[in-house]
Amino acid sequence: MPNERILIVEDEEAIRELIQYNLEREGFRSSSVGTGEEAIKLAKSDQPDLMLLDLMLPGVDGLEVCRAVKRESEDIPIIMLTAKDDESDIVTGLELGADDYITKPFSPKVLVSRVKTVLRRKKSAPSPDISVLDFKYLQIFPARREVFVSGEPADLTFTEFGILKFLAERPGWVFTRSQIVDAVRGDNYAVTDRSVDFQIVGLRKKLGFCSSYIQTVRGVGYKFNE
Ligand code: CA
Repeated sequence: MPNERILIVEDEEAIRELIQYNLEREGFRSSSVGTGEEAIKLAKSDQPDLMLLDLMLPGVDGLEVCRAVKRESEDIPIIMLTAKDDESDIVTGLELGADDYITKPFSPKVLVSRVKTVLRRKKSAPSPDISVLDFKYLQIFPARREVFVSGEPADLTFTEFGILKFLAERPGWVFTRSQIVDAVRGDNYAVTDRSVDFQIVGLRKKLGFCSSYIQTVRGVGYKFNE
């Protein structure tokens, strides 16, 4: 049974109770607050294992909370709760360091499973010197910068390889374009937000049927789908 402590930040009492009920049924411990001010204070004093953070809060809003909490303690994972059409807030939140997001309305089941996934990821950060990223039809050798699709070598450019490796090291994580740019920018390569899309097109072409490993997250960015 997990007994990690989850801090729920949500101003709507009914949603807060629904989340709390479902988390506790799964063995999590939880506490909840209704304002951003309390969230920042409690994150600091209690160091929860994960924070579920509604972005639409009265007063200090969710993005402000995210910024403050990540500045104080980068290793408290944050899952944002957002409205479906808040794409720009989702992008901003991810760039501030939020780990994932769930759009409202959500099913409690999905919420619990996302909480578990993010907690699991926190414990198993990608190893920097892994020798192969091995998926069913796709193998990536970071040190040799080689990629095989169904056993056949794929001829990727420096940047395409960088993007593929970055995404594949963290399956399921959504990354914004500028996070991808930051990850792959070499000394001599000028990669911009917009050119990420262009690079992805080229990358997908070279991956053939394995292109479906790279998933577009509309309005937000990209993720590697195992
Ligand atoms: Ca709200």
